[in-house]
Amino acid sequence: MTRDEALALDAADALAPLREQFALPPGLIYLDGNSLGVLPKATAARVQQVVRDEWGRDLIRSWNSAGWIDLPQRIGDKIARLVGAGAGELVVADSTSVNLFKVLSAALAIARADDAQRRVIVSERSNFPTDLYIAESLAAQQGCTLRLADTPEQIPALLGSDTAVLMLTQVNYRSGRLHDMAALSRAAHEAGALAVWDLAHSAGALPVDLGGDGADMAVGCGYKFLNGGPGAPAFVWVHPRHAERFWQPLAGWMGHAAPFEFTPGYRPAPGIARYLCGTPPVLSMAALECGVDTLLAAEPFGGMAALRAKSLALTRLFADEVRVRCPELALVSPTDDALRGSQVCFAHAELGYPVVQALIARGVIGDFRAPEILRFGFTPLYTRFADAFDAAVHLQQVQDGGEWRRPEFNRRHAVT
Ligand SMILES: *Cc1c(COP(=O)(O)O)cnc(C)c1O
Repeated sequence: MTRDEALALDAADALAPLREQFALPPGLIYLDGNSLGVLPKATAARVQQVVRDEWGRDLIRSWNSAGWIDLPQRIGDKIARLVGAGAGELVVADSTSVNLFKVLSAALAIARADDAQRRVIVSERSNFPTDLYIAESLAAQQGCTLRLADTPEQIPALLGSDTAVLMLTQVNYRSGRLHDMAALSRAAHEAGALAVWDLAHSAGALPVDLGGDGADMAVGCGYKFLNGGPGAPAFVWVHPRHAERFWQPLAGWMGHAAPFEFTPGYRPAPGIARYLCGTPPVLSMAALECGVDTLLAAEPFGGMAALRAKSLALTRLFADEVRVRCPELALVSPTDDALRGSQVCFAHAELGYPVVQALIARGVIGDFRAPEILRFGFTPLYTRFADAFDAAVHLQQVQDGGEWRRPEFNRRHAVT
């Protein structure tokens, strides 16, 4: 492909105007929206309004007058539209790690109430570490075990009459490999287990159909493809069929049926309010809502399906260009569109870290995932075809010119 051909793709791209929603620093090629989404232009003014008017002027009255108390459900309903969930089924709360603890705990309780012999959580060895740490600690507390697949193909064979829960991240954070949620949820159900999904790298990145694909519970991240800002609160969804059986391991007052009656004894709220624990972080919630709105703005343009088509075209373009220009980098992400999330990863043990640092110095931001992964996330809301093309050219240049050898690119930072 030539640069002119990439520019022609941008000129023909019906989604191109959506980029205007973002405060992107000029000249930067940002391929890390899968780790921290870009700041929407609306966010600073909205957060300032919440600080100055709702907090500063109206103070505690804002819990009612500004609807602070409804934020978890209000933003939850917006996220639900992106992930195939119904209104009133999903709430914003806590972090992904904490939400995973909540849903896994409830899923274990539900599965074992039906069959006490079920003591195994099945997942993948390559799952994101926090997901496995949470599962391990919960398993230890409850006398359960964690059984890990080494490849996605092994998963169905690990499910059996002893399995309580299948817990997977829909898109692998290192390889970008996308699981078939419908097929694996069905396999879990056929074994009598529940299917719990982490949407950290899929919510806002591709169409997700929690209801249609048979998932039982899901969690997801607010600061990646949802553009909610650093440390944005996460979300949690439970299929309505389990809502009344879902029992919080963290029984806090915001999940109580009547928090402002201040009664002794925990009584869970009906429906999804019981997934809440404590007071929502209002400033962070306001920022998250602006981020989610940038995705809902794509609905008139075809929504997540249209964003997915662009994302696949971007990742295909970048992977093809890099394979030609940098043959020494091994492509880790699937070439099959049906198996690829919204990122492209390469492996190289020696070059990986310094090449990513040299690219960052050039204003091309990807990230490095130990021990050897160069990871580039593509956010179709704001990434242009010319960006994907230019990033591949930069990648070739930092390697061919030996720029990556400079000492400053070989010093490890705390966050990679
Ligand atoms: C990013 C990510 C998380 C983040 O969890 P936090 O609690 O927000 O730190 C969890 N799981 C997966 C799979 C992720 O990609």
